[in-house]
Amino acid sequence: MVIGIKPYRKRYCRFCDKKIDKVEYKDVELLKYFVTERGKIIPRRISGTCARHQRQLTTAIKRARILALLPFIGE
Ligand SMILES: [Zn+2]
Repeated sequence: MVIGIKPYRKRYCRFCDKKIDKVEYKDVELLKYFVTERGKIIPRRISGTCARHQRQLTTAIKRARILALLPFIGE
């Protein structure tokens, strides 16, 4: 029996897996995987993203928010 929903169980880095060298802020569909419904960035230990890509991802998400491609954290 599974208690709770764990949608981010895969522990590999999606960017390394797809051989993405640079995280594009314009790739909103991809970025959406790494933010919660409330707009929070999912931490590395949960998403499995490597340190290098997580840093790029954070920058990309912040940029996407400024350009209104992604929502800011909303209560
Ligand atoms: Zn990576």
